[in-house]
Amino acid sequence: MAKAKYTTHLGMVDILPDESPKWRALEQIIHEEAARYNFEEIRTPIMEQTELIKRGIGQLTDIVTKEIFAFTKGDSNYVLRPELTAPVVRSYVQHHLAQRGGSQKLYYIGPMFRAERPQKGRQRQFHQFGVEVIGSGDPVADVECIAFMMSIYKRVGIKNFNLKLNSVGDPESREQYKNVLKDYLRPNLNQLSELSQKRFETNPMRILDSKEKEDQEFIKNAPVIGDHLNEDSAAHFKKVCDLLSSLEIEYTLDPLLVRGMDYYTRTAFELTSPDLGSQDALAGGGRYDLLVEEIGGQPTPAVGFAAGMERLFIACEELDISLAEPKTVDVFIATLGDTARDWAVKTLPVLRDRGVSATMDYLGRSLKAQMKDANRENARYALIVGDNELEAGKFTLRNMHESDEEQLDLEQIIQKVAHLSND
Ligand code: AMP
Repeated sequence: MAKAKYTTHLGMVDILPDESPKWRALEQIIHEEAARYNFEEIRTPIMEQTELIKRGIGQLTDIVTKEIFAFTKGDSNYVLRPELTAPVVRSYVQHHLAQRGGSQKLYYIGPMFRAERPQKGRQRQFHQFGVEVIGSGDPVADVECIAFMMSIYKRVGIKNFNLKLNSVGDPESREQYKNVLKDYLRPNLNQLSELSQKRFETNPMRILDSKEKEDQEFIKNAPVIGDHLNEDSAAHFKKVCDLLSSLEIEYTLDPLLVRGMDYYTRTAFELTSPDLGSQDALAGGGRYDLLVEEIGGQPTPAVGFAAGMERLFIACEELDISLAEPKTVDVFIATLGDTARDWAVKTLPVLRDRGVSATMDYLGRSLKAQMKDANRENARYALIVGDNELEAGKFTLRNMHESDEEQLDLEQIIQKVAHLSND
């Protein structure tokens, strides 16, 4: 086979025809489940202003410093969206969605872009589904987000995972905790990794997130934020935990879970799967009560999560879960001769109008080759037409799965196959 001259960019992946059914199946599950939870879909542009992403995710996060695809055209700075929380909040503020009343329960599905080093489960264009509930600070909103997230995996059939939970506190608790953490780390500062030394002043809590070997010993014994929450944040977290328990959603407390974004407050969570390799995070989220104001809106509490769709498919593969039925078509019209071909072209829309999926050969191949094609297409029936059949007004309808045949007129054929698409 000749080598393709043009290929996708590194870390950017085609979704080929054999794979698209499972994508549609997952999307369908997400839409159905979102409707049950009364979430409304939001679709925002692929590109946003670079400033929004910097502001919304945090200037010092890995995503902003290393991973955004950004470019300038004319006077505008564009960035391919690396996540959707900041864009959804932008949209909420720009279109005054608060005026619709109540809290806005939004969900999305779509591609995101990050210039990461590609590996299994890590792409440069990948897909997320997620939820943003904007306008409620109530623990119920946190728990509904988590319950929605879990419901998707449950419907898909992934049962083996670990929901990690933490509270990163509110600004007051964080300020107090940051000082305690810095006091603890300061005597050993020069033994920390270079990155952690940098973060010591700018964002010391991110040190807890460090994967660097030399940091681990210090992280292990570090004071935990759970011991430094103020009364409000502690009560909020307790309520989230209690509600999750009442829903029988299992979780483990992880005091080191701080997540990568600066705008998180209070609840933080991550869902990991032992069925994934080193990139084991299926989804993550949390509360971000500071973000709406940060990007120009009224102070408004909010909570959400984002889930990786490719990661979900990797877990499905490991667990032998197939989301989509094998492809099929109700009727393949196989023709012998030009008149029959013309009849077939006119008959396809008749079948389709009655809800029957139908196709024919586009290549003018022999009847034998057409029957092979019908098999390859996994057709349920082949409708075989030649001059004799046209004259008699009766056609051969072959059940491809049972290999038996009947002679029927077109109306009888439609009667027989019309129910198939609705099964
Ligand atoms: P984040 O927005 O970083 O919290 O990521 C949320 C989820 O998106 C993760 O738990 C992963 O499942 C998925 N994800 C993040 N980055 C990538 C990537 N580069 N490739 C594939 N999936 C990703």
